[in-house]
Amino acid sequence: MSAATDRYEPVIGLEVHAQLLTASKLFCGCSTAFGAPPNSHVCPVCLGLPGALPVLNRRAVEYAIRVGLALGCEVRRSSRFARKNYFYPDLPKGYQISQYELPLNESGAIEIEMEAGPKRIGIVRAHVEEDAGKNVHPTGSPTSLVDFNRSGVPLVEIVGAPDLRSAAEAAEYLKELRAILMAIGVNDGNLEEGSFRCDANVSVRPVGQAEFGTRTELKNINSFKFVRQAIDFEVRRQSSVLEAGEAVRQETRLWNDARGETFPMRSKEEAEDYRYFPDPDLPPVEVDAAFIDRIQNEMPELPSARRRRFVKALGLSTYDAAVLASHPRVADYFEAALAEYGAARAQGAKPVANWVINTLMKTARIDGLEAIFAVPAAHLAQLQKLVDEGTISLTVARKVLDEAAERGVAPAQVVEEKGLCQVSDVAAIEAACRDVIAAHPAEVEAFRGGREKLFGFFVGKVMKATKGQGNPKVVNELLHSLLGA
Ligand code: ADP
Ligand code: MG
Ligand code: ZN
Repeated sequence: MSAATDRYEPVIGLEVHAQLLTASKLFCGCSTAFGAPPNSHVCPVCLGLPGALPVLNRRAVEYAIRVGLALGCEVRRSSRFARKNYFYPDLPKGYQISQYELPLNESGAIEIEMEAGPKRIGIVRAHVEEDAGKNVHPTGSPTSLVDFNRSGVPLVEIVGAPDLRSAAEAAEYLKELRAILMAIGVNDGNLEEGSFRCDANVSVRPVGQAEFGTRTELKNINSFKFVRQAIDFEVRRQSSVLEAGEAVRQETRLWNDARGETFPMRSKEEAEDYRYFPDPDLPPVEVDAAFIDRIQNEMPELPSARRRRFVKALGLSTYDAAVLASHPRVADYFEAALAEYGAARAQGAKPVANWVINTLMKTARIDGLEAIFAVPAAHLAQLQKLVDEGTISLTVARKVLDEAAERGVAPAQVVEEKGLCQVSDVAAIEAACRDVIAAHPAEVEAFRGGREKLFGFFVGKVMKATKGQGNPKVVNELLHSLLGA
């Protein structure tokens, strides 16, 4: 951090666009499936042809209400769609159907866990709107193309209050929001495919000043890493602008990952420029109390509650609980494995959590999430039981897991076929110990002369001689007595 940065405090508010996981679009029956050939999921409504009329997707409203309730918002019984007018080739009607004065959800908050403790971040509003199409610029071609498959796909826009004070807080907020949306089953949390997108509004102010400074809006930040990097860059840039006695310009900036910089895209439109007005083609959205109650009653456990339960009921650390609860499918998998293992076992939940976090989730970072679920939960439980029973060591267990996962067979089968059972046979281990001692007279003398650190050397040699299968406890005891330590 430069000295300039220290004199300024960042103020950050995030706007998240999350695709609602409906099968069809917001105002027509076209499919929302990702990756279809260009312009294969289109109709007069989502192409904005004259005379075509929108019909609201009830499921999209239900999902958006779920979002509002999960974020602690007030859900408006009567909300309205409005037209946001602007010209751009990916917007065939010349306006986007969004919500303006009367959004579906307002005034909520979520809690993020920071090292200094929990912090509440306000949610200004969460409204429903349609997505635009996608401009494609083929390299080397003078023409641009438009794909309207995404046009009309339902989104919820979640506008966060300017309550964030660092890039780390912004990343934490984004992770929590994503975990919540996935847990309630309305969004797949995919930043790369753009079904969970984030714009960051960033300003700085001299430390101690109450008013906010002029903000810029950062776009194109499609990973958690970029969110942190783009905000950090922008905070440094704005701080040095102010430090030089100049003013920050209100503008939209793009993050360039290759250069690690943000650069100006356009000066920010004022809200008035969009000439919002209620969409005359759509009646107000009326939802009755019973509908909202039903959605509330069907609400699954939210990540924050799940974390607390993992800590309180299962005795996990807050770190482990947070990692496991960050993705609902991972948390479900962990709980399934734990049920197979038996949470009441002497070791508690920790060994199963370790396998998921330290082994499976690491693999998943390279091979994708499905790598976790490729190992049946029952197999993971069985693996740890083999370790608990002393049949295999942890070291061997890691190799067994790799092979079991690759071949799709149970760990016990791998152990059986490869004869990997841990050698607890005292006679066999003792013979190995004696061989090692006989082969290293100099080390034995040094050890007996007081170089106690050499003990590990002997353990290593014996483990190698037993191909990692010697029961470590037996090896230790035998070496101690044979070396006279
Ligand atoms: P717009 O209509 O231009 O999108 P909003 O008032 O709706 O503007 O705010 C959009 C986002 O900008 C919100 O997430 C809010 O928290 C954030 N924001 C507003 N003012 C500031 C500021 N001075 N610094 C940082 N973020 C801000
Ligand atoms: Mg906005
Ligand atoms: Zn359509």
